[in-house]
Formats: sequence, structure tokens, C-alpha cells
Amino acid sequence: MARKFTENKLVIASHNPGKVREISALLAPFEVEVISAGALGLPEPEETGMTFLENAEMKARASAAGANLPALADDSGLVAPALNGAPGIYSARWAGPDKNFDRAMDRVKKELGAGDPAAHFTAALALAWPDGHVERFEGKVHGRLAWPKRGDQGFGYDPIFIPDGYDITFGEMDPGHKHTISHRANAFKQLINACF
Ligand code: IMP
Repeated sequence: MARKFTENKLVIASHNPGKVREISALLAPFEVEVISAGALGLPEPEETGMTFLENAEMKARASAAGANLPALADDSGLVAPALNGAPGIYSARWAGPDKNFDRAMDRVKKELGAGDPAAHFTAALALAWPDGHVERFEGKVHGRLAWPKRGDQGFGYDPIFIPDGYDITFGEMDPGHKHTISHRANAFKQLINACF
């Protein structure tokens, strides 16, 4: 049995205001006061894990210890099995310091060549308590990579990812719909069912 979240304050272990807003909205029905790690001045730990779950857990543990409050962290990315899982945990880093996802998507195309275009997005979530207890969840959405890049609705690698059962990319999909089928939506459903 997963530990239930019974407290009334939760730290979002992120310095990204967009991510904090999105997570706050998902938790709005549960009357939890959400505070960001950035607002608390907590340092951002280096993502040195080898998996999405390890990185999420590392960030959640660091914020829970620093704030002495429960903390939730996520880590996500695009996985192409034909590229041995790349860009994977390095999805953000492939875009470089200027966050140039055009370049990152071009690199995926070049490295994949005529290889198998199957791919998935993964989202890991970790909820850590100050006593060291952690609950972890992982959601996925499977699909395939396709060029040319299509759509300007999403972010990151959305313009080259077509989810299974669709013939449009995440970049072309209404964001409200994407949020019902995405890797992140799946991971959040698991978290909420287990802990809230
Ligand atoms: P994180 O902030 O360390 O989790 O970085 C995740 C990176 O993975 C983002 O910068 C995106 O490049 C990529 N990514 C994660 N989720 C999505 C998505 O839903 N669409 C497109 N790219 C995504």
C-alpha cells in the first residue's frame, strides 16, 4: 500500500514556473497548499541519476529534506529504442543551453536515419517525505517519430511525435486533449489513485 498524503502543504521540487503551474492545477481538487522549491530558495540538485525515476527521486528527496515538508518532483523525456533509449534522460540537454528544440529534433532525425521510428515519452514522479519515505510512479505514451516537424501547440519534441491511434503529432493536438493521454497524465493518475 502506498503512503497517503495527509499533510496540507506540498513542495513542488522545480524551479520551472510553467511546471509548477501545471502541477498546481492538477492538484487543485485536493486542497493542498503548493509551494515551489524556487520560491523557498532551495538549491536545484544536479540530475545525476541513470533513469527518470532516479532523477525524480533525487529532486524530491532534496526538496523534502531542505524544506522539512513533503515534496513532489518529476522527470521526463523522449525515448527512442532504436537509439538505445536516447535522448532519454538527456532530452532537455540535447536542446543545449539556449533550449533549441529544432536542433534537438534534427539530431534525433540524423541519428535515427532509416532506423525504427518507434518511440515513447516517459514521465516519472516521486513524492518524498522528510522522514525519507518515497513513492514513485512512471507513465508512458507510445507512438512513433515522423518528419517533417508538424504543429506548434506543444513544446519540446512534440512536433515529431505521433501517439499510437492518431495520425497527428502532439504538436498538432489540442493541448487539452494531449493532457488526457500524455505520459504525464498517466503518471499523475497513478499518483492520485495511490496517494490522494
Ligand atoms: P525535465 O524538465 O528534466 O523533465 O525535461 C524534460 C524534457 O523532455 C523536456 O525539456 C522536453 O524536451 C522533453 N519532454 C518531456 N515531456 C515532453 C512532452 O510532453 N512533449 C515534448 N517534449 C517533452
